[in-house]
Amino acid sequence: MSCESPRTTMVQLEESLAELRQTFRSGVTRSVAWRKNQLRALIELLRDNQDRIFNALYQDLGKHPVEAYRDEIGAIIKSAENALSCVEKWMAPEKRWIPLLFFPASGEVVSEPLGVVLILSTWNFPIALVLEPLIGAIAAGNAAMIKPSELAQESASFIAATIPLYLDCKAIKVVNGGADLSDRLLQQKWDKIFFTGSPRVGSIVMSAAAKHLTPVVLELGGKCPAIVDTFSSISDMKVIAKRIVGGKWASCNGQVCIGIDYILVEKRCSSTLIDLLKTTLAKFYGNNPIDSSSISRVINKHHFGRLHKLLKDPLVAASIVHGGSLDEEKLFIEPTILLDPPLDAEIMTEEIFGPLLSIITLNDIQESIEFINSRPKPLVIYAFTKDETFKKQLLSGTSSGSVVFNDTMVHYVCDVLPFGGVGQSGFGRYHGKYSFETFSHEKAVMQRSFFLELEPRYPPWNDFKLNF
Ligand code: NAD
Repeated sequence: MSCESPRTTMVQLEESLAELRQTFRSGVTRSVAWRKNQLRALIELLRDNQDRIFNALYQDLGKHPVEAYRDEIGAIIKSAENALSCVEKWMAPEKRWIPLLFFPASGEVVSEPLGVVLILSTWNFPIALVLEPLIGAIAAGNAAMIKPSELAQESASFIAATIPLYLDCKAIKVVNGGADLSDRLLQQKWDKIFFTGSPRVGSIVMSAAAKHLTPVVLELGGKCPAIVDTFSSISDMKVIAKRIVGGKWASCNGQVCIGIDYILVEKRCSSTLIDLLKTTLAKFYGNNPIDSSSISRVINKHHFGRLHKLLKDPLVAASIVHGGSLDEEKLFIEPTILLDPPLDAEIMTEEIFGPLLSIITLNDIQESIEFINSRPKPLVIYAFTKDETFKKQLLSGTSSGSVVFNDTMVHYVCDVLPFGGVGQSGFGRYHGKYSFETFSHEKAVMQRSFFLELEPRYPPWNDFKLNF
């Protein structure tokens, strides 16, 4: 059997899908041994090809190897190792206590693989966001077709070239292409579609899936706020500034679904916060961040133009308090801070997904809850606060995929927590055991014996049976 990447005409896709189905039906992907071997091979792929991955991520996004290792290689090795050590435990049927009414009986929940799944991915973490869901699909015993994003070409080519060399090419296939190819893939019947991308395309995916009643996971984006409460200690404020700059610019230069989109802070604290953010930026990237190798580039001219357009609005441009310089040739936009841009400007109505950060001032931090609730549900809310009452109010008074107090981004790599959105930021969840569950069907299995037959359960009905 050939291990070349599948070709992508409709007929060729159908042939590839038929092969994936046949492999799944053969039962090979169900065994613990297959799942573990694939997970081990995935770890090996990442370890063997570290330099090629660094190079691809540098070509696509100008990512520094440290960032590339932390966010894409290290994070995925950690997830695969976790799945490798837990998969048998996850697969084990779980006994359930059956009510006495059914005595004698036993019950259990058995996790079965869904079948052949489709993973459609995006470009900001072009290796990690393909492999993280794949780990779940493999751990749960599925066959999978993967389509990386066409916008991160080097990474997509790397994935297509190396996956067949390491993983079982009859069970895991990669196809490369753009929206046309997605469209062709979406015409096929899958057992689950795992999509990471924009709400706009998420809705296209969901409509296509509806034709086949295919379940979907939509990992989407949106505008993630960070609330900064009043802090009396300057040392706390310095830590907050580092965590905000780290969460905003030190990961793909703000091109992150869980990056901070805007900050909510009381008016009286805003100038201290802005000063500390500027100092921290200078510490991390020097006075000419364009010369720094520690900050990623914008993915392409289209997205550069999109971000530039956000800044062109004269009222928005007037609100810039730091940065604002752009270099189209180098696809570089300086870390840019805006103070109170108009709330009806695109920068405050559309997801930014780039290095621009708006700071919105409030009279009282309590107003942040209403501010967040008046917008679509975010993927994550960050809140820097020591006020336990406010924490409780925020948790019960808002809805978001996650809430992180006093840090940014760290929840993404914490496998014991589910990752996913709610409302416009998507639905479904993954990471750790949640990935296994996402790609499994939890089958209820009940067993009875022939002992103790209760006649009142059968017709003919009468008053005695009514009162039984
Ligand atoms: P996108 O929706 O444009 O593309 C995602 C995938 O869909 C790509 O593989 C692309 O080829 C495909 N696609 C594009 N147009 C299509 C069409 N018309 N029909 C079918 N498929 C199509 O998103 P993007 O620009 O790649 O990524 C940015 C978005 O992804 C942001 O909204 C961001 O917040 C979100 N995102 C979410 C997560 C998460 O985990 N929740 C992670 C990263 C990015």
